[in-house]
Parts: sequence; structure tokens; C-alpha cells
Amino acid sequence: MSTKFIFVTGGVSSSLGKGINASSIGRLLKQRGLKVSMQKFDPYINVDTKNMSPLQHGEVFVTDDGAETDLDLGHYERFVDENLNKYSSVTMGKIYLRVIEKERQGKYSGGTVQVIPHITNEIKEAINISATKSKADVVIIEIGGTVGDIESLPCLEAIRQFRRDVGYHNTLYIHNTLVPYIAASGELKTKPTQHSVKELRSLGINPDAIILRSDRKISDSQKDKIALFCDVHKEAVIDVRDCKSIYEVPPMLAKQKIDDFICRHFGLQTPPLDLTEWLKMLENIKNAKGLVKIALVGKYVSLKDAYLSVYESLKHSAFANNVNIRIDSIDAKTLNANNVGEVLNSYQGIICPGGFGDRDIDGIMFAIKYAREQHIPYLGICYAMHLAMIEYARHVLAYPKATSREFDEDADLAIIDLNPLRKGFEKPMRVGLYSCHLKPGSKLAEIYQTNLIYERHRHRYEVNNATLHLFEGSDMVFSGINEEEKIVEALELKNHPWFMACQFHPEFLSRPNRAHPLFLAFIQAAMKM
Ligand code: GLN
Repeated sequence: MSTKFIFVTGGVSSSLGKGINASSIGRLLKQRGLKVSMQKFDPYINVDTKNMSPLQHGEVFVTDDGAETDLDLGHYERFVDENLNKYSSVTMGKIYLRVIEKERQGKYSGGTVQVIPHITNEIKEAINISATKSKADVVIIEIGGTVGDIESLPCLEAIRQFRRDVGYHNTLYIHNTLVPYIAASGELKTKPTQHSVKELRSLGINPDAIILRSDRKISDSQKDKIALFCDVHKEAVIDVRDCKSIYEVPPMLAKQKIDDFICRHFGLQTPPLDLTEWLKMLENIKNAKGLVKIALVGKYVSLKDAYLSVYESLKHSAFANNVNIRIDSIDAKTLNANNVGEVLNSYQGIICPGGFGDRDIDGIMFAIKYAREQHIPYLGICYAMHLAMIEYARHVLAYPKATSREFDEDADLAIIDLNPLRKGFEKPMRVGLYSCHLKPGSKLAEIYQTNLIYERHRHRYEVNNATLHLFEGSDMVFSGINEEEKIVEALELKNHPWFMACQFHPEFLSRPNRAHPLFLAFIQAAMKM
């Protein structure tokens, strides 16, 4: 069977949830026994998300192979539950860089290098590589941005050509639009959709299906109208209403039989759709009892997307524990020694996510100190593991000068430092999947029920082994170690109900129906408060 390609575009407005729709379709096809892979094209010129501000762009999602990617890849992995890789995330910056590198190497035999065919060929090549590497039956390719933007034009031209290259029945275009409700006239408006499809058709792409986002039900007659004006089959006009949980989208699409339409178009014979497990998870969400209140203390809280995977992981554990969850984001810079108790005393758990730079570290340390002293369950990720050690060294072990090289280049007591073995590395960041041995008998080993785990990382600084002796005999136990590089991967406190911090990012491996053990245990500890 030849690989099938679904191209997902968006129009009218950004933030329509086309990534969620694309991932939901991926899940439906997976539940029909197909092997699905996903790929995202981002129209910006950045080569990857490495240098992008979490406050502008949201979190950097990290794959097993260490690609630093767009947060949509997190949705893909959570929905489809397939691990993606560096081929799954392509920016226009990467495409242009490759073309320019080839030009410098004289690979174009003196020809004039142009958007068509050189940039478009490179885009098609990236699609083909991802298909070959993933060995998927169906690859879903989401084109970032909104149709009509200048930046996405080369991508749209490339996917237009793609149908010519591999054939009509091996390609499917799904366009996502918004159907706004005009309160004054009490009507839903289909005109923006018609205009957006017209724009897409002017670029040579006739969508095969349209997904309409709206805040209320779209009537059949309106769907008929869209089908007629936009030249798509009636059964391929699908609506997705605003919902409480993004995880309701796959069944919403299934109800309208989008998977049948897709399989028919591709001529695929598959087993029927089986969403049992997914529906069970939704049932858990609906039947959740009680409430667990978690404070997320961080420095990028003004943009929820900056900690997207952390929020989702917390929710997954709440689903699994049949409890409702409220996550309040607390800006670290608003915390001080006087108000910390007042701000945090009503929470059953405190989580501090990753971060960079010395801004607002005091606020995070006030939260950590409060969690440690008041015996509130604490989960610290990466940066927040560094800060948990610094806080402990300063206030319990009485080393007021303990700090991280990240905050003070000339520090006398850098208990967190650059790894000397890594100095001069081309890639100073330690990104991607690394092993971690868990100390037998530790709480962490009990949580994971094993002594060897693999987790995703993204850091430059780590525990300075030369200062570890300062912690000997204290309550701080180093319960996770990477044995190859001798790096401390996790710590916990004795004499505390639940205080854990890790160098790795467990949030990248949590799935809605397979919550991550560390988050699961954190929420369970919080529920006991
Ligand atoms: N800034 C820290 C480092 O580079 C931690 C990174 C993080 O939290 N992801 O090591």
C-alpha cells in the first residue's frame, strides 16, 4: 500500500484548534488499525524553537531524539500516542537553510535558485523523508499559519504539487475555518469560510473536507450551504464546537464519521473504529469527584502555553485518579517572604516547572521553601530541581552562597554548574531521551516500579558532583543518576510526605489515557492533603 497524505490547513483566524483536529483525526485512524504519523510545517524563519521565547511562542516540546519543536507536536504525541522525531517538525527557516547550504556547496549546477522549484522541492522532500522514516500508512501534515499569509505560500504550493506527484487518492486536503456567531443578528456566519476556501482554491488547492469551528451547533442547512459554495461533499463538512476538554474532539469527529470519509477517499479497508479506551477516559473526567488544588509557580505564567505539557500532564493524572483539578498559575515574581504563606496555604500541591536565567528565582525559592517546611507535596522540574537544591543548601545546610553557574558566572559555590565533560561541545544542551538509574528503596523507584527509566531532557546546567559531599548525611537523597555521564537526575527528601525534583521533563511523556507515574504520584500525594 502506498503512503496516504492528509494535509491540514487553516483559514479565517489563527488558534482555531487545527492542531487538535489534526491530532484527533490521527487518533481515529490509529483506532482503525492504521499506523499514523504526524508532521508540522511552521512558516516562520527560525530554524527551530531553541531560541524562541516561551512567552511568545509557548513551550518548546522535546522529542526522544532531542529535536526542539513546536508545542503542537505535544498535542500530536498526546493524542496519537506515537513518539515523533526530528523529521516531524519542519520550519521554513530549516528549509531555506538547507537550500542556501546546497547553493553554497554548488549543488544547483549554476542554476538560479528560486522558491519554485527549489524551496518547494525541499518541502516535498521533507514530507517524503518523514513518511519513509515513520513507515506510516497515513501521514498527517499540518501547515502552520493561516491561508492568505505571505509566509505559508511556498508550503501551500508544495502541497498542491504533492497531489500531482502522488495522485488524487493518496492525498486529502482538510481546511479548518471559523464560523462566527453574530450576536446582534443572532446568526452564525458562513461567509468567512467561503472566502477562505476561495483563497485556498486560488492557490490551486480544492479542499476535500472542511472542519468548522464554532461556539454552537451549526445547522444542517448551513452545512449544506457550505458544501455547495465550497464544492465539498456534504458528509465532509464537519463541525467542532467549543468543548470543556480538548479530549472530547476525537469522539465529536467520529460521530460525524470523518474517519469513514477519509478511509473511503483513500480506498482503505480497515477494522471498524474502536474508541473504547478513549471514551472510558472521558467518562472518568465526567465522573470525577472532589477537587484537588495545585499551585503552579513559574516565571512564564502570563502565557498558559508556556507550560502546556505540564498542565496537560497534571490533568491526565487527575483523570486517572478520578478527581477534578484546579491549577492556579502563580507568577513567581509576586511571591515574597511575607506573602508566600497567604498565597500558597490553600493548595494541596505545588509544582514548579522548568525555566532559564536568574530572573524571579527568589520567588520560586520562596515557594519551594514553603512546600518543604509546610510538608506540602512538591514536584520540581529541571530548573526547579536546581532551585530546590540551592534552597536546601542555603537554608538547611547553611551555605548562603550556594548557587548555580547559570545565575552567577563567578560563583564561589556553584552546586549547579556546566558539565566539564560537555565543555566545548558543539551542542552544549543535553536534549532528548537519556537513561536514569533509580536508587533501590527510594520513593522514586517505588513510584516507577522499576530501577531504570528513560526520560526526555533539555538543560545545559546540572548538579556539580564536586559539591555533592555537602549533602551527605542530610535529608536530601539523590534517587536518580545517569550512570554513563554520572549526572544527578532526581532528588527527594526524607522526612517529607512528598518532595521530588528531577532534572528531566516528565511532562513530555504523559498521555491522556496513560498518565505519567511521577505526576500520578504527585496528584495522589496532593489528594491526601
Ligand atoms: N536553565 C536550566 C539549564 O539550562 C534549566 C533548563 C530547564 O528548566 N529546562 O540547565
